[in-house]
Amino acid sequence: KKITADDIRKSVAENDVRFLRLTFTDINGTLKAVEVPNSQLEKVLSNDIRFDGSSIDGFVRLEESDMVLYPDFSTWAVLPWTDNQGGKIGCLICSVHMTDGTEFDGDPRNNLQRIIRQMNDMSFSAFDIGFEAEFHLLKLDENGKWTTEVPDHASYFDLTSQDESASCRRDIVETLESIGFEVEAAHHEVGDGQQEIDFKFDDALTTADRVQMFKMIVREIAKKHGLYATFMAKPLQGQAGNGMHTNMSLFKGKKNAFYDQDNEFHLSNNALFFLNGILEHARAITAVGNPTVNSYKRLIPGYEAPVYISWASKNRSPMVRVPSAEEVNTRLEMRSADPTANPYLLLAACLAAGLNGIKEEKMPMEPINGNIFKLSEKEREAAGIKPLPSTLHNALKAFKKDELIKSALGNHLTQSFIGSKELEWNQYTQTVSDWERNRYMGY
Ligand code: GLN
Ligand code: MG
Ligand code: MG
Ligand code: MG
Repeated sequence: KKITADDIRKSVAENDVRFLRLTFTDINGTLKAVEVPNSQLEKVLSNDIRFDGSSIDGFVRLEESDMVLYPDFSTWAVLPWTDNQGGKIGCLICSVHMTDGTEFDGDPRNNLQRIIRQMNDMSFSAFDIGFEAEFHLLKLDENGKWTTEVPDHASYFDLTSQDESASCRRDIVETLESIGFEVEAAHHEVGDGQQEIDFKFDDALTTADRVQMFKMIVREIAKKHGLYATFMAKPLQGQAGNGMHTNMSLFKGKKNAFYDQDNEFHLSNNALFFLNGILEHARAITAVGNPTVNSYKRLIPGYEAPVYISWASKNRSPMVRVPSAEEVNTRLEMRSADPTANPYLLLAACLAAGLNGIKEEKMPMEPINGNIFKLSEKEREAAGIKPLPSTLHNALKAFKKDELIKSALGNHLTQSFIGSKELEWNQYTQTVSDWERNRYMGY
């Protein structure tokens, strides 16, 4: 899997790569990119592409705004489509460094690597992640802008002639495979126009990188099909929202450290401790995993999205589910996060919470195997089931109080996350919506 500078030079020549697309991720999880012509290849390969960090959300540094891109060669991917002149585009995911060569601590990708090193110090070799990022395909209007009209009215696992999104989905899958993804499943989801494409789990950094590429490719292919792809958490009111189920396990070499054949749920003590860490920090993790105002419109009863902090092995209403699986596939499925999350921040927060759980060696609450939504408030209280935050505002409050999750992001990212999200919340609270006019104009 190791790719060298020479491999990239060869690939550029063989594939007629004309442009190099260098990407990194800002605080909001948005993929940023600069494209340079292939004449700049040597500069790219020797970490010599600079940019102005002060114009990137969350990057602002008064003392120093010049920053440098350090491409991670192992992320090299040649997009299968060509530009207008027939040349191809080669992609590299980068880490952001300062001009003196040190890592920029406001780069979410660098930060995830920092938490992974803490995990290595605890003698785990890998944090393996499988994401299930759902999205909607929507029709465009005559100006090419998104609408809330869907290209089909199919539902879960439908594959009929009515499913106009099937051909777009196949195109996405083939594109992903051509750049080295192992796609495990692609299907229509429950909602109108809603889709899911799953690729195989891998270590946290690789999977975070891949989900960023995945979203970019989904958007570009949708456009080629005259559709608009959105990863917004709840684009259509009264219908299922988009989740990004996060399947997590820790490995020691080839051994899944979450697996224990003798345990009732086939979970090791480390898995149960890790789970307890996630549950204990659930409210602050939610700020990171569900970082938009709209995210909280998904976390309501009735749409297979969680509302309460609990876990179970069977039903799908709790925050964490333990899917039945053996050995290497043993995992915890956190069902709360949505695809608007910055994957680097989300995984850093989950890993830090889980590792802290392992250090504390505390068992999680009892699993709740019934339907939590059917319990009364009293019954939930008696079982110690607390709700997830109901708004971005409440999640931010929990985040600000949670020293562990803040340290998982580090000072720079914590400050820019809070700053960016408070601004978003304030804008939202000051917005007078159509709902309000319709409700109150007659007063
Ligand atoms: N769309 C649901 C969510 O909001 C998940 C549905 C599913 O994958 N079973 O998370
Ligand atoms: Mg799924
Ligand atoms: Mg799904
Ligand atoms: Mg799932």
